[in-house]
Amino acid sequence: MGSDFSGVTAIAYLASGVLFIRSLGGLSKQETARAGNAAGMVGMLVAIAVAAITWVASGDVGARQAGLGLMVGAVVVGGVVGSTLARRVEMTGMPELVAMLHSFVGLAAVLVGFSSYLNPPAGLEGVRHTVHLAEIWAGVAVGAITLTGSIVAWGKLKGTITGKPLLLPGRHALNALIALSIIGMGHPFQQMPGASGLPYLLAMTGLACLIGVHLVVAIGGADMPVVVSLLNSYSGWAAAAAGFMLNNDLLIVTGALVGSSGTILSIIMCRAMNRSILHVVFGGFGTSDVKPAAHGEAPAGVVQEIKADDLGVVLAQAKNVIIVPGYGMAVSRAQSAVQDLTRTLREQGVNVRFAIHPVAGRLPGHMNVLLAEAGVPYDIVLEMEHINADFDKTDVVLVIGANDIVNPGALDDPSSSIYGMPVLEVWKARLTVVLKRGMAAGYAGVENPLFYLDNNRMLFGDARKSVEALVAAVRK
Ligand code: NDP
Repeated sequence: MGSDFSGVTAIAYLASGVLFIRSLGGLSKQETARAGNAAGMVGMLVAIAVAAITWVASGDVGARQAGLGLMVGAVVVGGVVGSTLARRVEMTGMPELVAMLHSFVGLAAVLVGFSSYLNPPAGLEGVRHTVHLAEIWAGVAVGAITLTGSIVAWGKLKGTITGKPLLLPGRHALNALIALSIIGMGHPFQQMPGASGLPYLLAMTGLACLIGVHLVVAIGGADMPVVVSLLNSYSGWAAAAAGFMLNNDLLIVTGALVGSSGTILSIIMCRAMNRSILHVVFGGFGTSDVKPAAHGEAPAGVVQEIKADDLGVVLAQAKNVIIVPGYGMAVSRAQSAVQDLTRTLREQGVNVRFAIHPVAGRLPGHMNVLLAEAGVPYDIVLEMEHINADFDKTDVVLVIGANDIVNPGALDDPSSSIYGMPVLEVWKARLTVVLKRGMAAGYAGVENPLFYLDNNRMLFGDARKSVEALVAAVRK
């Protein structure tokens, strides 16, 4: 029966793999994201069903019953916990949830590695045994780095760990030493008979956990987007390593898909932040030579306020308006009000477009998801490179809960920790209006000279309430 099933399993796994690829393809565009998500869910359902059926069809009856019980229990507990978390999590809490989920993948790879070492598949000898041990070593190392790196990233995103980089003296040498020790200890581990290399495996896991923590604590707040996507990629490679250990083709394919798409996303994010991917991989990038801007040093100029009623009049008379959403729009759940404002202005003949910075919010694509959820038409939502040249032809720019992504200091202040990051050059418009509650800094913790420019006004208050007031004012 088992051999009959191996063909069916291979075909089903192939179908799952194709569905996962379709899912990634679909998720790359807003119009096809829903279909992409559905393809991914069906692919996962097929994978779980086939894994369960294959299990039922193999091994002795006692082991089958015990294993099936465990599998059903894990699916039920995981399903309940996962769906409860997904229902409860706010859009602003998604990045932390994603970081935490990455850590679970890392932990799973570590556990699979240990169980595979203590309970190896039968009949492994010679080169195959050596390769199996190498898979365990690599899988546990990547898994442990992902585990602790993701926990630190979770803490940094949540704010329980400071966003400031922890830069130990000689940190690059320390990283190199740990990496060399991890590689070096692999040799004696390979030589140990049976499971007697366990102390080496445990010691290496400890070192990999340490390097995971050290790599991420060295990252400054503004560079966290790259770390999140990089850990996404590591979690994929950890899953692929687990696939090799378990001899499971689908896990290898899925892990490689997540790993490579995470790497591509990291490269895109690096370009957006003007950072080098090599510096990211080796840690502590973008922080070494730059002194953070002095605290409490307000930029020159005067902060000028505007009231919603006055801004409503200006907006109603404008021809071209660009809206720049940021993290504050997510916090205040202003997206539906923003869509109302967009619709109202367009009905009055105003050309309204959206400018999306690649690191706006706290997750790649964060703003696109919120705007899509609110029903903003896709064709007026433009990425930074497609709209940055248009600001000087724009009457009014509304910056809704954004801060770091519109900071001119990123272009002209070498002492700023976000210096070098391309930003939306909103100050080139005739008028910019920033909607935020007060004068607080953004995620990177740096002052924003935009707020003090002559052609800038501040509309203070919660973004949703301010936008609702604007809709009423424009309708008047
Ligand atoms: P910022 O974090 O720079 O600024 C958000 C602003 O929103 C704050 O200054 C805050 O000011 C304001 N705000 C908060 N709540 C409200 C509210 N209810 N109503 C109105 N305003 C509000 O956000 P940006 O989107 O501009 O930039 C993203 C930052 O996050 C970048 O530094 C990026 O590197 C980082 N990051 C991005 C990730 C990603 O993948 N996209 C991941 C991790 C970090 P106030 O309190 O005064 O209202």
